[in-house]
Amino acid sequence: MPPVETKQYDYIVIGGGSGGSGSARRAAGWYGAKTLIIERGAAGGTCVNVGCVPKKMTWNFATINETIEVGRHYGYDFPEHVKFDYTHFKKLRDSVVKRLNGAYERNWGREGIDLVHGKASFVEPKTIEVDLADGSGKVRYSAPHILIATGGRPIVPNVKGAEYGITSDGFFNDMEELPPKFAVVGAGYIAVELAGVMAAVGVETHMFLRGDTFLRKFDPMIQKTMTERYEASGVHLHKHFDGFKEVQLLRDGKGKDKLLRLIKNDGTEIEVNELLWAIGRAPEVEGLNLTIPGVKLNRAGHIIADEYQNTSVNGIYALGDVTGHAELTPVAIAAGRQLSSRLFGPPELKSAKISYENIPTVVFSHPEVGTTGLTEPEARERFGNDKVKIYRTRFTAMYYDPLPAEEKKKFPTEMKIVCVGPEEKIVGLHILGLGVGEMLQGFGVAIKMGATKQDFDSCIAIHPTSAEELVTLR
Ligand SMILES: Cc1cc2nc3c(=O)[nH]c(=O)nc-3n(C[C@H](O)[C@H](O)[C@H](O)COP(=O)(O)OP(=O)(O)OC[C@H]3O[C@@H](n4cnc5c(N)ncnc54)[C@H](O)[C@@H]3O)c2cc1C
Repeated sequence: MPPVETKQYDYIVIGGGSGGSGSARRAAGWYGAKTLIIERGAAGGTCVNVGCVPKKMTWNFATINETIEVGRHYGYDFPEHVKFDYTHFKKLRDSVVKRLNGAYERNWGREGIDLVHGKASFVEPKTIEVDLADGSGKVRYSAPHILIATGGRPIVPNVKGAEYGITSDGFFNDMEELPPKFAVVGAGYIAVELAGVMAAVGVETHMFLRGDTFLRKFDPMIQKTMTERYEASGVHLHKHFDGFKEVQLLRDGKGKDKLLRLIKNDGTEIEVNELLWAIGRAPEVEGLNLTIPGVKLNRAGHIIADEYQNTSVNGIYALGDVTGHAELTPVAIAAGRQLSSRLFGPPELKSAKISYENIPTVVFSHPEVGTTGLTEPEARERFGNDKVKIYRTRFTAMYYDPLPAEEKKKFPTEMKIVCVGPEEKIVGLHILGLGVGEMLQGFGVAIKMGATKQDFDSCIAIHPTSAEELVTLR
């Protein structure tokens, strides 16, 4: 066999998703490092193709239906059944994603980054082999600095017939028509978001969860109110669910034509038109040959990376979902940028790293949830009961005023501020209700700066808004 030629770079980035793109652009665009991105799929990774972007578009689509319902109470004379075309919407969503794929690649090209389409794996400690996506063979690359930003993938359980269901990837890529009856297994934010959009567009939605509430990592107020809210809006919650023993495909097809029988471990059955597994995500490390350089994994299979994104091997770094730290797009981007500043930037950035404290995040449920910092139980555990003070409110946003009293109850806005010590430093903020997704970012800045309750109170309220309640809490 002839010797394989190995091309040299300053920086090789495996994975052109949020973190890989953020890091490569900073390295090449700002600091002129000779950079290569290796991407086996579509540019932009999970967020652009099967995550944040198509998810938020679908949430917008569903929200329009909710607005129409409220609009009737304001006096709008909408027909009884306002028709919509999900297939049209899906095509539109696909075209937005495609446009973004192109924008990502153009940005990389503009910043002098080379792109290779194919699957990467280590063949030597600092040499990567790429199995080219066009089938034309294999190429090798080497660099003193190599970043692993390969993200994660949805988990499918080991249940007979599980493959007849879909994951979030299939929800966005393959589901072209709405299923009249939809089952979701899971209780995390992806389960809640995708169940929420289906229910909001009139799909009979069933959620299967192990406990009594969903969003179990969130503050108890969020768990309780959101679970009640989903039940009140007609989502069927199957609590204390202990698993399916089999999924049977009764009829293959799209939308209403697909029919599945789900057989629970207790022997009871339910028939649905689609089943979504939303039971978690696994790090994408398979096939990378990480044993060749000796990159260590933790027990869950995530790459172990320190606060500077160093792995156990000098010159190999990891960030984003593959490390299992705060699995969010802006976290991966920020970690990628800081890493490149540290590796290729000026001396004053040699210790650059991101702060994983007080990361604000939003669940695009119905209504939205916003959260940053510690939950009430976490704060009590960390600081002690006597040091923690809670401020809370619950009300109905003015927007819902035209609704009859019984209906209005279904649309709570709820807010909680978790404060610590005599100065009442704010260590947690938890909000749910109309518009909280846009509300949180600014409050997130204040909390990151170390705001106290007094700082919140000293800010003049904006009236009439829901957000003003956060600066007038008693
Ligand atoms: C349904 C859903 C909704 C989400 N919504 C939000 C949201 O609203 N807000 C938010 O902040 N986050 C959201 N996320 C999370 C967000 O998408 C991820 O945190 C983010 O994409 C992680 O970025 P990453 O760079 O670590 O990995 P990814 O974006 O997954 O990128 C990894 C890339 O590596 C490539 N790759 C993997 N292995 C190889 C290999 N061997 N060779 C070459 N290429 C390889 C993959 O093809 C992929 O393109 C959502 C995720 C999902 C699934």
